[in-house]
Amino acid sequence: MPLFRADIARQLIVLSSHSAHNLDFYPVCGVLMANFRTHLSVATVAGVLVGLGGQQISLWPAVEAVPIAVLIAFGGILPDIDSDNSHAVRLVFTLFAALAAVSGALLFQERLEPGMLLALCATLFLGVRYVLSAVFKHFSVHRGIWHSLLAALLGGFLVACASYQFFLQDAWMAWAHGLALALGVMVHLLLDECYSVDLVGIRVKRSFGTALKFFDYHQPLNSLLMLLVTSALIPWLPPWSALMQFVSQGLRYWS
Ligand SMILES: [Zn+2]
Repeated sequence: MPLFRADIARQLIVLSSHSAHNLDFYPVCGVLMANFRTHLSVATVAGVLVGLGGQQISLWPAVEAVPIAVLIAFGGILPDIDSDNSHAVRLVFTLFAALAAVSGALLFQERLEPGMLLALCATLFLGVRYVLSAVFKHFSVHRGIWHSLLAALLGGFLVACASYQFFLQDAWMAWAHGLALALGVMVHLLLDECYSVDLVGIRVKRSFGTALKFFDYHQPLNSLLMLLVTSALIPWLPPWSALMQFVSQGLRYWS
């Protein structure tokens, strides 16, 4: 496959033209290794470091380090839901489906008979895992709208709202959860940009700038819709004052 070899060679040249300080990471995030597993591994390492680091500087108690690390790891694979046939799509939609089933059980446990409740949970699980996943796959473009900082903001807002309104966490922790997911997404975008990661790890993208962008310039209407959904979440967010306190306490340890 001469084309394939030429492609790899071209990308190795592109990679080697990066600044020298990045070279240390090449053996870890090399072209052929940079796939779903790389994304998950890097985000998990980042999650563990942030989870433990935040605990060390008293941003959250030890028990919260686990959900923080999990959210960062999850954010680290989330943008690849806009790719077809990837591990990321299957994993993310299986998690969404499980979340939908658990939420359905919690919301309707008092109102439905056990048999009906079970049927509802099974319907929710299968509906999200297979129907919603298929619809999503049909309409999404890889490295499109979900590879953007706007998507990181939307994901962060969604998690902060869910944590505060649904899981009844205090405002401080709800913001921490939202920031953790957004951070995970940004780790993914940075990794894509730095190493031009393709999902299956056998090809690399020819151009940079497709992952780390504010929004998808090629899909202005979809981006506008995403912005509207993000803005619509604002009334459900935890108080902004808690976010300010959280950020200022975090920054105090850096200065
Ligand atoms: Zn990606």
